[in-house]
This record gives sequence, structure tokens and C-alpha cells, in this order.
Amino acid sequence: MADAQMESRFTPWLLGLFLLSLLILLGLARFVWLQGQGIQDRVQRLAAEDLAQLVQINRLRSSFMEQSLALQRLYATADAEDFGRNQQARRERLHQHLRDWRQLCPSCGELDRLAQLQGRIEQHGTALFDIMRSKPIDWDASRTELYAADDLAMQADALLTQWVDGIGASTERSRQQLHSGTRELVFSVLAAVLAILLLASFVAYFSWRLLVEARLRRRLALFPERNPLPVYSLAADARLLYANPAAEHMRQQLVPEAADAGALLPAELAAQLPALLREQGQAEWEYELAGASLQAGIHCLKDLGVCHAYVRDISAQRQAERQLSHQALHDAVTDLANRRAFEDELEQMLDQGRSGAILLLHLNRFHSIIKSLGHAMGDQVLRASAERLSQALTAAADDSRLFRFEGELFAVLLTTPDSLDASQALSRQLQQSMLQPLDLAGRELVFTLSLGASHFPRDGKDADRLMRRAHSALQQLLQANGEGLLHFSPEMDQRALEWLELEQDLRQAQPRDELELFYQPQLDLASGWLTGVEALVRWRHPQRGLVSPADFIPLAEETGLILPMGEWILRRACTQAMAWREAGLPPLVMAVNLSARQFQDPGLPELVQQILRETGLPAEWLELEITESAAMQDLDQAIQGLQALQAIGLQLAIDDFGTGYSSLAYLSRFPLDKLKIDQSFVRQMTTEASDLTIVRALVALARGLNLRLIAEGVETSEQEQLLQELGCDQVQGYKYSRPLPSAELEAFLRGLTNPA
Ligand code: C2E
Ligand code: MG
Ligand code: MG
Repeated sequence: MADAQMESRFTPWLLGLFLLSLLILLGLARFVWLQGQGIQDRVQRLAAEDLAQLVQINRLRSSFMEQSLALQRLYATADAEDFGRNQQARRERLHQHLRDWRQLCPSCGELDRLAQLQGRIEQHGTALFDIMRSKPIDWDASRTELYAADDLAMQADALLTQWVDGIGASTERSRQQLHSGTRELVFSVLAAVLAILLLASFVAYFSWRLLVEARLRRRLALFPERNPLPVYSLAADARLLYANPAAEHMRQQLVPEAADAGALLPAELAAQLPALLREQGQAEWEYELAGASLQAGIHCLKDLGVCHAYVRDISAQRQAERQLSHQALHDAVTDLANRRAFEDELEQMLDQGRSGAILLLHLNRFHSIIKSLGHAMGDQVLRASAERLSQALTAAADDSRLFRFEGELFAVLLTTPDSLDASQALSRQLQQSMLQPLDLAGRELVFTLSLGASHFPRDGKDADRLMRRAHSALQQLLQANGEGLLHFSPEMDQRALEWLELEQDLRQAQPRDELELFYQPQLDLASGWLTGVEALVRWRHPQRGLVSPADFIPLAEETGLILPMGEWILRRACTQAMAWREAGLPPLVMAVNLSARQFQDPGLPELVQQILRETGLPAEWLELEITESAAMQDLDQAIQGLQALQAIGLQLAIDDFGTGYSSLAYLSRFPLDKLKIDQSFVRQMTTEASDLTIVRALVALARGLNLRLIAEGVETSEQEQLLQELGCDQVQGYKYSRPLPSAELEAFLRGLTNPA
């Protein structure tokens, strides 16, 4: 726009300049032409007159000279005959030259004088000729005549020289005029060239401006036509004056049945148009049409009596906004509502004074799945678990909703005054829903749930406190390695603090040499012979005294401390076994417990081999115990892990057998040597028929799989007898010995070596 204003201001000036330079150019052209003419005239005159005159004067001069020379020769030779023979021809030539000259320059007045001089020269010549013919020759008289003729010839020559000078001056004048004329011509031509350049610049500039303007006008004209947005022009009565092709296109897309593109405009526009036009106002609408979200804007021009409107399809934008708000409140992996949505909903319930419970669901072993099978598999596990849990919730048909927090954590928000009982029932349903293995990418994975609950308003009236308390309950349960549901109780806050302190101390335990191994004997039931010992770790805490592994192994697992700790235990146990062998004690198998995390560590076989090499213990004297639950987490991986360990030549046992959800099909594929019946069955088999049945089944199973069977936790003779009757191979328990420090065990062993 600014360009156009500038242009209109400068155009008269530029036009004036153009005309002026055109005039100058024309004047210069005329001047150059006249100059050229003058130069041409002068050159012509020089060539036609002055040069011809000079030639003619030269001819005359040579005729006069010839005549003087002939007289001098006559005087000198006195050969009158010779002179007389040529005299007539000479005279004719001279007269001819004089006539030519007269013709060339009729106005030259001095010519008569020259003719007179010639006449007189001829008289003296004739007199000399006569003297020279007379005998004797009068030399004085002849000399007088010669001198007189010479003198006249000199005068004629002087006259001719005068003429030559005259022509020379005129030629010089012509030359000077020619010179200045040529110079002026050159300057004129240069000025003309400049003027032409100037003119050409003007022409070029104007042409360019015209082009620019044409393009601008074309662009402006195309603005509505090519606009991808629908653009309209409306009359005061809402009549459609103009709709661009984009409007027509959108009409065809959205409302093909409508008569014109005006159908895209909001319905209320017509009613508001007169008022908008009166006030020269503008307005905007957002509305839905044929499933699309549209935005229309209008602005009215009072002076022209028209309104311009545009329409935009903002469906994609609205969709993106909806998606964003969905993403903000939902978990990307499972599409369940997320922690934020949970907190919003909880706040609302608390504001409304409702009662209910928060259940935090921990998907046990999920962490180790991610570590060994990767995050993609982890995501599959989460999705499958979310589906199972959602189905269980739907089946429960109460007012509860499932959320996904981060990692392996889910949550359920329960709203019922009877939240204690309801959460108990729901927890059972949720756990049962996870009993069946998840079949993912050809792998069967079993997960258990640990649930922590807090109830409102019982455990708090604000969301933050309730969340912390549900977390405390869950944490407590996880530390006890427990599954199922734990409700918050006030002592948990205190215990959570203690757990934190314990963790800090545990980090120092190994560097401060506070760990120690105890050994519990394992005996052959039939013969009573010692077959091996199980290494059981102890922590001599400076303040707490001897801490049970049940209290710190789960913590070591959770913090990852188990890996360096497990390596220390393995090395210590092997070193001890080797020391006893070297001390001459009876050979015994050293059984070492492996935690789930250790078992899943891909570097484990290499580490075991290295320790065996270091300590020199033969592989067959080492037995590794893996709990049933650790082995069953990822069955395929467990098989591979066990095979790698078996290849080393050591023995493998499944610990706490009967407590997990063993897949019997897989059990047969595990390369095992031994099953250890969990002590809970042993403890109750003399009183509970169901436990006795289980022990009996386990004996049959071990037989079937050709595995040795050991019962742990044998405390009484009754248990021992029953186990013997059932056909159990080995026993371990307080009945024979508690776990003992190495020195005490050594004494125990020595006592056994000589049982007699
Ligand atoms: P576990 O491997 O099943 O070990 C047997 C547990 O039963 C031991 O408890 C032992 O003291 C106890 N026990 C043995 N005989 C009897 C009995 O007659 N009656 C009763 N009531 N208990 C008996 P402990 O030493 O407290 O170990 C608990 C668990 O901690 C172990 O169970 C094992 O899973 C774990 N653990 C112990 N040491 C280690 C270790 O070095 N590494 C790993 N990863 N875990 C260990
Ligand atoms: Mg064990
Ligand atoms: Mg055990």
C-alpha cells in the first residue's frame, strides 16, 4: 500500500522529467544534424574551391617560372632559334592557365593585374628576342630587357604568393571551424547518448512500475478467488453477493444438498446483520455443522453497505484439543485414566463428603519383566493386566474405577460407606483375575497383586494424606514380600520411617563387614547322614542385633543391593565349603539361595563359574536354590537360565515349593535336581488334612519327575516320621539343628563324622 502511495506522489515529477529529457534529446538531435551539415559544407568547400585554386596557382606559378627560365636561357645561350621554337607554346599554356584561373575565380580582381604583368613580360621578352637575333648583340640592352622581364615575373610571383597566402588563411579558418564544429558534434553526440540513457532508464523504470502494479492488482484480484478459506460478501439483507470457490468447495463437502455456499454461515447471522452494518461492527461465531466444527467471522462496511464474512473449519483443532485433554488425563499405554484424573476425582469426592477407599495395586515382578524382556513386552503386560483388572471391576459392578499410575502401579477408587468389606471383596476378585497366566507373544507370564488401601474419611480427609497412607500400606506389604490386601493402620507411618532407616544402614552393611553366613544342615531321612548345608545370611546390625534375612532381603531386592550382596554370599559359601573339605570334614553339598533378581541377571552363570574357579570348589558340590515364585515369573527365560547353570555342573533346587503357581508342564522341562517342600506345609501336615494331601502330592510329583525331595522346617519327630512314611528323601529343620555360625557348624559336623 505504501508503495502505491509513493508511486502516485512521484508520477507527475517523473513524467515531467521524461518529457524534458525527450525535448532535450530532440533539440540535441537537431543540433547534431545542423553541426554535421556545417562540417559537410566546410569540407566540401575546402575540397572543391580552396584546393582547386591552389592547384591552379601552382600551375600559373610554374608557367611564369618556365617563361623566366626560357628568357634567362635565351640571354645565356643567345640561341634565338631555340627560344623562338617553344615561345609560342609557352605563351599559349600560360594564357590557358590564366583563362582557367579566371573561370575558377571570376571575382578575383587581381587577375587583370596578373594579365597586365604577363603582357609586359611578353613585351620585354619579344624585345630580348629581337636583340638576341641582331648582330652584333647589344648585351647591355638585352640585359636591361631581361632584368625588366625578371622584375615583372617577380611581381607576378609576389601576387601569386599573396593569393596562396589568402587561400591558406581561408583554409586555416575553415580548419578551425571544422575543428570546433567536430568538437561540438562529439559533445552533442555524448549529450545525446546521455539523454538516450536517461530516457531508456525512465522507460525501463516506468515499465517495471507498470509490471509491479499489474502484478499487485492481479494478486489483489486473486485474493478472494484463491483464498483457501471460504470468503463471502453479503448485502444488508443477508443476500449473498459473492462466495469464493473455497466456500463452494466446503459446501459440497459438508452440505451438498444446500442451494448455495451461504448455507455454511451461522443461522443467526441474518438476524444480526442489519445491526452490525449500522454500527460498522464485527462478530464471531463457533458452531457445529454436519459433524464439523466451524468458526465464522464477519465485519461490516457501513459506507459500502456490505459485510465481508469468512468461515474456517476448526474440526482438526478441536479434535487436537480434545485429544490433548484426553492425553492429559489418560495413560498412553493402557488408555486408563491417569493419576491426575484420579486426584481430580478423589478431590471431588472428598469435597462432596463421600466415603470410600483408595486401593493401590502393585503388579508384582513387573520390574524384573521389563529388565529381562524389555519395555515393549512391559507395555503388553500392562495392557493385558489393565484389561483383566477392568473386567474384574466391571464384574464386581460396584461404583469403582480403575486408574493407571506410573510403572507397575494401578489404583482403584471405591465409593461406598462400607469400604472396608467392599475393598476386601474387590481385592479378592482382582487377584483372582490375575491367576491365569498372561499369554503374551508366546510366553506365559504370571503376575500377582499386592494391594495397599486407605479409607476415607477414616484415614484422612485430604487427598494427599490418603494417598500417602495407601502407599504406606502397600509398601509394608511389599516389604513383607506379601501378596493380597493390606489396610492402612496408624503404626505403619512409624514402620515406614524405620524401613527408610534400615535401607540406609543396609547400604553400609557390606562395606562394614556386618554380614555373616549361618549354615543349616540337611540330612538324609533314611540313614540320618548329613548330605549338605544351606547357607543363610545374617546381618549383625550394631544397634538392632542379628537381623533376619526375611527383614532385609526384600529391601535388598528392591534397592538392587542384592546383587553385590549375593555375590559376596556365593563367594563366602564356596570358600567355606572348600575350607571344610580341606579340613578333612565329610564332603557336603553347599546350598546357596538366589533371589529373583540374581536369577534374572544374565551375568549369573559367568559369575558362578568365576567363583568356582577362584575357590576351587568342584561344581557338583554347589547347589543353587531358586524360589518357586522367581522361577515361574518368566517360564521360558527360567528354562534358559536353569540350563545355563546346569551346564556348569552344579545342582539346582526349587525352594519353597508349593507356594507359587507352578505350571507343571514347565516344571517337567526345568533341569532340576531337587524340590524343597515349603515349611508351611510341613508345619501343618500333622494337623491339617489339606496340607498332608499337598505333601503327599508333592512326593508323588517328585517321584514322577525323578527329583529328590527335601522337607524344610521339620521341628518334630511326628513330622519326621510322617515324612519318612510318605517317602521324602531329605530333611532340614530345627529338629536337627538351627542355622549355625561356621565354627559351631564345624563342631556339629565333627560330632557327626563319628556317630558311633
Ligand atoms: P529359605 O531359603 O526357605 O530358608 C529356610 C528358612 O527357614 C530359614 O530362615 C531357616 O532359618 C528357616 N528354618 C529352617 N528350619 C526351620 C524350622 O524347623 N522351623 C522354622 N520355623 N524355620 C526354620 P531364614 O534364615 O530366616 O531365611 C529366610 C529366607 O530368607 C530364606 O528362606 C531365604 O528365602 C532367604 N534367605 C536367607 N539367606 C539368604 C541368602 O543368602 N540369599 C538369599 N537370596 N536369600 C536368603
Ligand atoms: Mg532356601
Ligand atoms: Mg524355603
